[in-house]
Amino acid sequence: MRLRNIAGSREVIADSKFTVKDPETKKGLWKKEVFGNDKPIHIEIGMGKGRFLMDMAELNPDINYVGIEKYSSVLLRAIQKQEQRLLPNVIFIRMEAEIIGDVFAPGEVDKIYLNFSDPWPKDRHAKRRLPSREFLGRYDRILVPEGVVEFKTDNKDLFEFALEEVEPAGWNLDKVTYDLHNDPVMNEGNVMTEYEEKFSSLGNPIYKYIVSRKGK
Ligand code: SAH
Repeated sequence: MRLRNIAGSREVIADSKFTVKDPETKKGLWKKEVFGNDKPIHIEIGMGKGRFLMDMAELNPDINYVGIEKYSSVLLRAIQKQEQRLLPNVIFIRMEAEIIGDVFAPGEVDKIYLNFSDPWPKDRHAKRRLPSREFLGRYDRILVPEGVVEFKTDNKDLFEFALEEVEPAGWNLDKVTYDLHNDPVMNEGNVMTEYEEKFSSLGNPIYKYIVSRKGK
């Protein structure tokens, strides 16, 4: 997601109390220093305008949520929403997800959400796709042993790619659906993202998987 460059958005983000500056300095300290509690940490990588993350945070006050987004113009929208909602268990980082291993310590994260990630359709860009084996390797290092990655998309090619990456990356496919909204079991408690509302209203089915390293 890319919005028109909004003048001053970087400065607003730098000043906002809802974002963490220099996130590498919080490695291993997210619960203690950032949230001030011992609750599990769930992160969304590529959260866009952040409504999913904030709705989840409201529904689950016993979880700490960290939203990661690389574009300041988009993150600004999330900050503006949080200024209204003032959820105590939400914080944002403006960063490129590739460096996630510098920001979270091994086992510091309990769950990772990927929602409607950029498809990077060219073969030579496969490593940039967030469900690629390279990224699964990065998630492996920061998740607790029983941690999971939950991925939703309406992009069939990206989803097929993601499914093919699971085994070579050393992960297990725990659950999968090719039509989330018509799958009563997996859709239970589903919180829609901004992209999910947009694309499902056009009639696109939503694909979802949950993967883990359970038993590995
Ligand atoms: N999750 C939201 C937005 C999906 S669009 C929703 O479902 O509505 C994908 C978002 O991920 C974009 O805002 C894009 O800027 C962000 N993004 C893509 N790759 C990223 C990366 N490597 N690091 C951080 N953010 C990324």
